[in-house]
Amino acid sequence: MSDASPLRAALLERIRRGGPIGVDEYMRVCLADPEHGYYRRGDPLGAAGDFTTGPEISQIFGELIGLALVQAWFDQGRPTEFALVELGPGRGRLMADALRAASLAPPFLQAARLFLVETSQPLRQAQAEALAGGSLAPEWANQLQDVPDLPLFLVANEFFDALPIRQWRRDPEGWRERLVDAGDGGDLHFTMGEAETPEPGFGDLADAPEGAWFERGAEGEAVAGEVGRRLAASGGAAILIDYAYTAAQRAEAGWLETFQAMRGHAYADPLAAPGEADLTAHVDFSALAAAAEAAGATALGPVGQGRFLARLGAEQRAAALAKANPAKAESLAADLGRLTDPREMGALFKALGLTAKGAPPIAGFG
Ligand code: SAH
Repeated sequence: MSDASPLRAALLERIRRGGPIGVDEYMRVCLADPEHGYYRRGDPLGAAGDFTTGPEISQIFGELIGLALVQAWFDQGRPTEFALVELGPGRGRLMADALRAASLAPPFLQAARLFLVETSQPLRQAQAEALAGGSLAPEWANQLQDVPDLPLFLVANEFFDALPIRQWRRDPEGWRERLVDAGDGGDLHFTMGEAETPEPGFGDLADAPEGAWFERGAEGEAVAGEVGRRLAASGGAAILIDYAYTAAQRAEAGWLETFQAMRGHAYADPLAAPGEADLTAHVDFSALAAAAEAAGATALGPVGQGRFLARLGAEQRAAALAKANPAKAESLAADLGRLTDPREMGALFKALGLTAKGAPPIAGFG
């Protein structure tokens, strides 16, 4: 496989010295190593990359989210200066489409300061190009904490699934954490740690059967907590979209684990090529909602992406585009299907809304 993977040697050395590491630490190194981390190296998106996202499939995705944020801004009395924020904007498509749609409401754009939270230099470059000549000049931040504390109108698509998680599995002795260990032959493989009693935050898992997996993303919960804190203090609205589950859905689906690697649009072994594959885990929207609510916000949904986009008017928008460009009608319909069909992204992907307590609900959440 990949002797060329420069992170492999560093991981092997580190594990030999300090013992096995958690899945969270493995993800952190593989995705965010300043030199060789997956998101620091190049552009992983699109046909030539490893995966495709909603805004890369159709302009309708970003347009409808832009209009939902504009609507929320009107519903909340049009705060005069606010932060329009995207977490992990990828190639900038979503925000470019959102801003074009928002140009229907010039006062929204006049009141907005645009912040892109992005750690990848190549993707910052792509975002700058996507937004060049547009209505707002972006400012970049490495983390939400670096964005000024203003009323917050925020979107994050496929951001939380890229943040590190830890995993535990239930066996007869208790919960054991899944760790990454080094073999004598220079391979990386999974092993299980000592049995431990549940940490706080495992929730009501007393009924989880043997073999059940539990996953927890502390970084994601911290970001959701920060979003919730800002919404509670200054108002605004947040729309988070991701591969996600709720606690109840997880139990229903059989307590599976969701750590996965994508390479060249195919599933791959997550340990095979550190830094060269996209590593993700499905997002626990129950945990993110709880973190935001503990910080004083209210959670809406989650709602399946298909239903969410339909409520925002996806069909009408697709029909209008098809009317303007009849030659594209077929591909527009196909793209809309990919986003909304429950057999494609329509159900697995979900939207979670966050607002201050007592704020009007965000469009799309019913
Ligand atoms: N939202 C985009 C891209 C999703 S890919 C889309 O829908 O197309 C994940 C994005 O999150 C990338 O832009 C990646 O560089 C960014 N990212 C990943 N981890 C991050 C972190 N810890 N802090 C900030 N950005 C991060």
